[in-house]
Amino acid sequence: MRLLIVEDEEKTGNYLKQGLSESGFRVELAINGLDGHHLAMTESFDLIVLDVMLPDVSGWRIVKALRAANNDTPVLFLSARDSVEDRVKGLELGADDYLIKPFAFSEVLARVRTLLRRGDSKTEVDRLDVADLQLDIRSRKVMRNGQRIVLSTKEFNLLELLMRRQGEVLPRSLIASEVWDMNFDSDTNVIDVAIRRLRKKIDDDFEMKLIHTVRGMGYKFEAENVE
Ligand code: CA
Repeated sequence: MRLLIVEDEEKTGNYLKQGLSESGFRVELAINGLDGHHLAMTESFDLIVLDVMLPDVSGWRIVKALRAANNDTPVLFLSARDSVEDRVKGLELGADDYLIKPFAFSEVLARVRTLLRRGDSKTEVDRLDVADLQLDIRSRKVMRNGQRIVLSTKEFNLLELLMRRQGEVLPRSLIASEVWDMNFDSDTNVIDVAIRRLRKKIDDDFEMKLIHTVRGMGYKFEAENVE
């Protein structure tokens, strides 16, 4: 894992570099905004720890430039400022998290690890494809055979679960807990109703059915012609 730290205060920069290096990261330190901006835009990092107040190019400008270039490297902002406005501005510009100085190193490390984990799951897959059905996880768009299908949030989550576990028989109890946060004993009629609605949207108009009922067991998502 390669990290970039952009921090003009020598003490803080070195302290972060040392701590993160000792924690097993490869660390690049830029001591001003110009170098930080250049490195962030031209090299590839798993995460950027970015001071907001830099004497030349501000952290805000750097994160703005990154996001404008479609670079979604996670950014952890460091700042001595503590107004809600600044926090909101940072997050609006595309920072992923915000840490107020002074901070304990353990806190930086925890935030860095959390952001890296989040980044992992983001890049893992952003689109699921089964036959002619596509589900775009980031934009939450669903297309079948080139046609846009509009789903409710629950329907989308249900479809995502089915597609992620395609070919597996999913019991109603599992669907209930994954999509509705309900426990095992809950009324599973909710699931049957939701499946029916989902079928109507994604299967009814197509010859190849994707959602299959496995009697007495649950549901299965699979591309096959006969049910
Ligand atoms: Ca600074």
